[in-house]
Amino acid sequence: MKNTTYEVKNSDEYLSKAREVIPGGIFGHYKYAVRDSGPKFFSKSEGAYFWDLDDNRYVDLMCGYGPSILGYNNPEVEEAFQLSSDKGNTVSIASPVMVDLASKLVDMIDIADWALFGKNGGDATSLAVMIAREFTKKEKIIKIDDGYHGVAPWMQDESRPGIIPSDNQHILKVKWNDIDQLENLLQDQGDKIACFISSPYDHPVSRDNSLPEDGYWKKVTSLCKKYGVLTIVDDVRAGFRINLKGSNVTFGFSPDMICFGKAIANGHPLAALVGTNELKEAAERVYFTGTQFFSAPPMAAAIATLNELEKVDAPSKLKQYGEDLNNRLVQVAQKKGFNLIASGIPSMPYYRLEGVSFETHFQWIDECVKRGVYMLGYHNHFISLAHSLEDIDFIENAASQAFDSL
Ligand code: PMP
Repeated sequence: MKNTTYEVKNSDEYLSKAREVIPGGIFGHYKYAVRDSGPKFFSKSEGAYFWDLDDNRYVDLMCGYGPSILGYNNPEVEEAFQLSSDKGNTVSIASPVMVDLASKLVDMIDIADWALFGKNGGDATSLAVMIAREFTKKEKIIKIDDGYHGVAPWMQDESRPGIIPSDNQHILKVKWNDIDQLENLLQDQGDKIACFISSPYDHPVSRDNSLPEDGYWKKVTSLCKKYGVLTIVDDVRAGFRINLKGSNVTFGFSPDMICFGKAIANGHPLAALVGTNELKEAAERVYFTGTQFFSAPPMAAAIATLNELEKVDAPSKLKQYGEDLNNRLVQVAQKKGFNLIASGIPSMPYYRLEGVSFETHFQWIDECVKRGVYMLGYHNHFISLAHSLEDIDFIENAASQAFDSL
């Protein structure tokens, strides 16, 4: 394959325009992905690919930061979306599709006796902690040190602009996989703690991702039970990639509530919170809503997405593909004299080049992007069911050339 690299002139021109009318040009988490040599805006997307404004094609290893689990424009999902949309979108009363989706989740997710809906993952996590506070009549929240659960003020670090100390007043932090620290905290303040919230495994940014140690989650749930603290799994990122019954099932424990978002509707805006019967009345009392929460087509898209994921046994396919990709990339790195570490679950790999500076690692990523593989230096990646074996060949070749260019 030719060793050519992409130019991104049209993207750069649009970024200049963006900076005139949008603070920062590109905002939020997308801002961190803006690299001089990389694409900034897409023109279209299909399956495992997107194209930028300069008509360069990228094999997308970010999948929109997770939503595109079946690939962009999946025909079954888009048809379900369109059929529902033809009947109405946000109408003045609810759509029965909301009930059908809740039933689907109750059938599918091991612990689920009910479901509530929002738009973003942060809706589900914020609602979950409100329900925990209402149910326990306690105020404090334990989270993992740099665990991410959205942008609500309770979630953001005090050092961030716009956040005031009282936003964090009731947040307590523990290290991932550290049972002793959790036990000490519960002993000291268990009577004030409403919930423990964590992703099923640790997927921080700019650091190797880490799976739970054997027995970790069992110990967490039994300690929490002892102190009357609810366990909330934030499955917004890993949901439907590890186990279709909830990631907790694979790790052998039962939380009280699970938050879903991202992949649930294959890119249509939707989030869900599910929970156990015990919490149903508290969930009914908490007021949490939004104008767009009742939009029906994303719910129809979610039912189609979940059906499709079940039909193809998505978690095992994604795992297999991720393992193949990781092995090939680790091997190509080795051949070129580099040590590539792939951490986290295989379908959400975080890559790091061991023994070189962060700059060199980012440079390698930039060189992959310039050769048509969309990756990020600081974040875990995502694989979709639309990624093919030819795509692995393409990625391997681009990665190999990227190593040569360092
Ligand atoms: N929880 C986790 C684990 C996440 O990865 C994210 C998003 N990256 C969120 C919550 C927040 O989701 P959203 O950005 O959709 O509000």
